[in-house]
Amino acid sequence: MCCFSGHVVPRSGWKAVNPRIRTEMKVPAQTVIVHHTALWSCVQPCDSLSQLVHIQNMHMHERGFDDIGYNFLISGDGTVYEGRGWGVVGAHAKEHNFDSVGIAFMGNFNDEMPTCASLTALHGLLRFGQLSGHFRHDFVLVGHRDVGKTECPGEHLYSALPKVKEQLKTPY
Ligand SMILES: [Zn+2]
Repeated sequence: MCCFSGHVVPRSGWKAVNPRIRTEMKVPAQTVIVHHTALWSCVQPCDSLSQLVHIQNMHMHERGFDDIGYNFLISGDGTVYEGRGWGVVGAHAKEHNFDSVGIAFMGNFNDEMPTCASLTALHGLLRFGQLSGHFRHDFVLVGHRDVGKTECPGEHLYSALPKVKEQLKTPY
């Protein structure tokens, strides 16, 4: 398995605007919810940067969220981008935001397959969250469709999640 450097591109790296309000999570996350953005695939940084700006703008101005909804986003080249980040309540899964972390894969996974690099990045991010106490040690990884009425995160990404779960059981 290829390795994840642990590096997360901070908000300043994609020129995020400041959130209107930032609500801290009171407990470590019990659930990690995987989403897809259902937008264009991101194989190069320029695709990702324009998509991040687009999503934040859409979430804040069309949906009325206080910030980009997700805690993290992962591009096809395996780069992890900070959304709301660690310890902040997101807006990505109704009724589950206060005890979950939302991670969105950038692309539409009804059509495309998640790349090995992006799945490795997810695995690395989950390991980091586990080791640094952002998640409960017995946290569960689910797809958005497991907790809401939606196709998200797309068939191909959803089918890839059991393997990621399996890998998390093995010691680092
Ligand atoms: Zn979703």
